[in-house]
Amino acid sequence: METLSKYNTVRLPLHSESEFVKWLEEFNELSYTTWRVKRTYPPPSDRQFVKVLLKKEYRCQHDTRPESALTNSKRRVATKNTSCKADMAVTIRNVKTKSKSADILLEKFPTTLRIRFSHNHRIMCADALKYRDVSKETIHTLCELFKRRPTAAVEMVKQELLLKHGENYPVIAANRALCPDIPFAHRLYTKMFKELYGDTSDVKMMSVLESHCQQYNEEMESTCMVLKIVNNKPIIAVCTPLMKRTHETIKHAGEMVFMDASSNMDRNNCSVLYF
Ligand SMILES: [Zn+2]
Repeated sequence: METLSKYNTVRLPLHSESEFVKWLEEFNELSYTTWRVKRTYPPPSDRQFVKVLLKKEYRCQHDTRPESALTNSKRRVATKNTSCKADMAVTIRNVKTKSKSADILLEKFPTTLRIRFSHNHRIMCADALKYRDVSKETIHTLCELFKRRPTAAVEMVKQELLLKHGENYPVIAANRALCPDIPFAHRLYTKMFKELYGDTSDVKMMSVLESHCQQYNEEMESTCMVLKIVNNKPIIAVCTPLMKRTHETIKHAGEMVFMDASSNMDRNNCSVLYF
């Protein structure tokens, strides 16, 4: 448990919100803590010259709204809430406005951070580390590994960490920033899938399928993929260039039909038939 129960004021050479966001990311990483926005003060819009560019309050992520007593009484729910009182307030002043203030640090250190680093829980323990945000580097690694399935990607990340950290692996594996959980990987995978292949809702999916057919035919410089609606169900027929060549060069290929069917291929319960 940390003992810095009083507020400490720090001046920082940060001139904008984007600089502060970057600083906060590094602070989270180095301190093994995660800070969430508690309150935002909107800048006054009726003033010609804004003196304060940003004013925000942050709380430790372990200070959340506790689960209701009714919910907890029926099942044992792991919660990250410890009603932690660690908090901080940041104010970034605008150095361009002429101020009568005698603040000699204003020009070089326009950001004032008032922080109370008094966590009521341990920071470097598995029970706290498992709630950390997954780091950007880990997200990048996962995206690369999504050429496999999300669960396999997480296993690959774990294998890499095991090889890299050896005996220290159990401590590293408890840190969610480095070792993400499978539900997170699935959410990220779904988000990536949506960005790459479009929405899977009925109307939007059809337009995405049509554009993919068109794109594939253009790339193959031949009509290899056709989309048709039969009984209100979309059917896509694909005949790859290799299949076409087989039909053209092997006479008996047109006289025999092999069929292999599989269903439940994805969340839309699509079927794949090989002829
Ligand atoms: Zn805390």
